[in-house]
Amino acid sequence: MEVLDYPITYLANVGPARAKLLKEGMGISTYGDLLLQFPTKHIDRSRFYYTHELTLDMPYVQMRGQILSFEEQGAGRKRRIVGHFSDGQGIVDLVWFNGLQYVEKNYKLLTEYVVFGKPTLFRERFNITHPEIESIERFSRSPMGLRPYYSIPEKLQKRGINTRMMEQWVATVFRILHEPLPETLPEYLVQELKLMPRDEAIRTMHYPQSAERLSRASFRLKFEELFFIQLNILKYTRERNRRFAGHVFARVGDVFNDFYYHHLPFPLTGAQKRVIREIHTDMKSGRQMNRLLQGDVGSGKTLVALMTMLIALDNGYQACIMAPTEILAEQHLDTFRHFLGDMPVRVELLTGMVKGKRRQAIFDGLLSGEVHILIGTHAVIEDNVQFRNLGMVVIDEQHRFGVAQRAKLWSKNQTPPHVLVMTATPIPRTLAMTVYGDLDVSVIDELPPGRKPIQTIHHYENRLEDLYRGLRQQIALGRQAYIVYPLIKESEKMDLKNLEEGYQQYCRTFPDLRISKVHGKMKSAEKDAEMDRFVRGETQILMATTVIEVGVNVPNASVMIIENAERFGLAQLHQLRGRVGRGADQSYCILVTGFKLSSDTRRRIQIMTETNDGFEIAEEDMRLRGPGDLEGTQQSGIPFDLHIANLARDGQVVQLARDVAKRVLESDPTGDRPEHQLMWKALRDLNRNSVDWSAIS
Ligand code: ADP
Ligand code: MG
Repeated sequence: MEVLDYPITYLANVGPARAKLLKEGMGISTYGDLLLQFPTKHIDRSRFYYTHELTLDMPYVQMRGQILSFEEQGAGRKRRIVGHFSDGQGIVDLVWFNGLQYVEKNYKLLTEYVVFGKPTLFRERFNITHPEIESIERFSRSPMGLRPYYSIPEKLQKRGINTRMMEQWVATVFRILHEPLPETLPEYLVQELKLMPRDEAIRTMHYPQSAERLSRASFRLKFEELFFIQLNILKYTRERNRRFAGHVFARVGDVFNDFYYHHLPFPLTGAQKRVIREIHTDMKSGRQMNRLLQGDVGSGKTLVALMTMLIALDNGYQACIMAPTEILAEQHLDTFRHFLGDMPVRVELLTGMVKGKRRQAIFDGLLSGEVHILIGTHAVIEDNVQFRNLGMVVIDEQHRFGVAQRAKLWSKNQTPPHVLVMTATPIPRTLAMTVYGDLDVSVIDELPPGRKPIQTIHHYENRLEDLYRGLRQQIALGRQAYIVYPLIKESEKMDLKNLEEGYQQYCRTFPDLRISKVHGKMKSAEKDAEMDRFVRGETQILMATTVIEVGVNVPNASVMIIENAERFGLAQLHQLRGRVGRGADQSYCILVTGFKLSSDTRRRIQIMTETNDGFEIAEEDMRLRGPGDLEGTQQSGIPFDLHIANLARDGQVVQLARDVAKRVLESDPTGDRPEHQLMWKALRDLNRNSVDWSAIS
């Protein structure tokens, strides 16, 4: 067995109990895993600080001195040991909340120590809680300069594992490792991209000689990580393309032209025309289309979907669109029927609500080919729904699927349909290259003409008179308004109660107005009836939980009031705001919050009031939350707890990794080139240990 594969439990000073903690808390099972656990920062340990130099914004300090006395303070859970530490010039308190016996046994009074930790202020004196302490003899034996700082999960810290221990373990492994760590990238790439070799990079990550070398090491490892992700995605895509031919939609015929010349209610935007061309180019290429359609809220993606489906019809095929919710599916049905008018195109809706004879009739129509376009929820694909000849599928996504899930949608088929994936809100480019890395991308970067930018205003919840006045003005002008409340499972009862109370209050404040109320707990028919009343303009205000988030289209609505806006994420806020500003009138979005806001929330609100650009918002959202927490990325099958790269910050590295991976695959389509063998092996090893990519190939 290779040293790197040794179980961590064998390492000196680890043992079974700590091995278990390391495995569960940090995913470390082997010596090799330990080396890949990079320090989160490096600390300049080349100097000591004095008490009078300490400030609260220092992340850590290193001091030298003696403990003058110990004192027990507090009681119960607050019981702590305080050691009064003097550096000869002033006093700092060292504080321990646990391991009291250990502290008293191990640290001696009036002995020279080096103390290390984060300074905080308590009762006007600087404190260091749970400091690292080392005797001066030991300290002088360890190297000065930049030292690694490993961040250890709290649970492990409580069990006595600290950064110092990690440092020693890592050092031990390096000592017994006699071979260099294996290279995973082909030599010519390392040369050409001027990358640090892998062995050097990993050692440098732990023990950098300078900041400059540290950044080169981290670049090398980020590149490697992202490169293998891209290699996986692109390799999969190539194999898929080789395996599946696509239906050839060579004709643009009567259906499309009839629609284009006689039914289109407005001219297409330049961007819409361009993406329709891009899609059509795919459709006639003989290759199965897998394309992502990105566009901001309100940019007219639905129409693009419809028109490209008509191309499928022109070539004798059926088409189908999947929506994330029933409401949205119904809305698509209305939109399509409205757009198509009296054209001889039969569109049907299939959701869980459609039962019995009607369901059977649709099944029959799909088999005979009389139903041309099917609209539905996910059931459309999962059910035993059979088509005569399905040629195109549009996935109107709210939640993002991963490469693997998407593949399941069509892999059962011999000649799979063309697939167009539409995102509900824009996603950052780096994320698109990863989560949707197997897809070609079309972007609608232009809104239909005549839209006035929505004005977004932040309102504290106690100053409602202005808000009510503004709302009344808009309604007097004949407009309509949405008022939205958050709803999440964990606090569903409370949330529904908030909606109900809000509803009562609005009814009292506006006794002369007609107000609809909609939430997910209502019976579907009832909900639809209320929505309908609003869509037809019978009610002027629609109060709802987030059910209206996606897709609802009422151009006459010009006000969106979002209650408890602090509880919504950026993407959601943007999506909600996109429900207004769909007509020619000036629209408003009002974010109502309490007074106490965290700095992240403040930032979210600020971004919302500053920009209407969904792409900008998406980037910011990823910066604030990190890619792993964005909607749907968890289901995507991509390992977002990347070791070292960060999709929010390393956009350029993602692009480089993708370009290089593409080139490598093109130069070695069969995977036979000898200089690539180590790389392919590394890829296989990675896949064995992490992502279930096998599910997709
Ligand atoms: P989204 O991209 O958010 O799905 P929609 O497809 O719902 O946007 O379109 C938003 C609104 O813009 C709809 O009312 C649609 O009819 C309208 N629309 C789409 N394309 C155009 C266009 N070229 N000119 C004017 N209005 C358009
Ligand atoms: Mg839409």
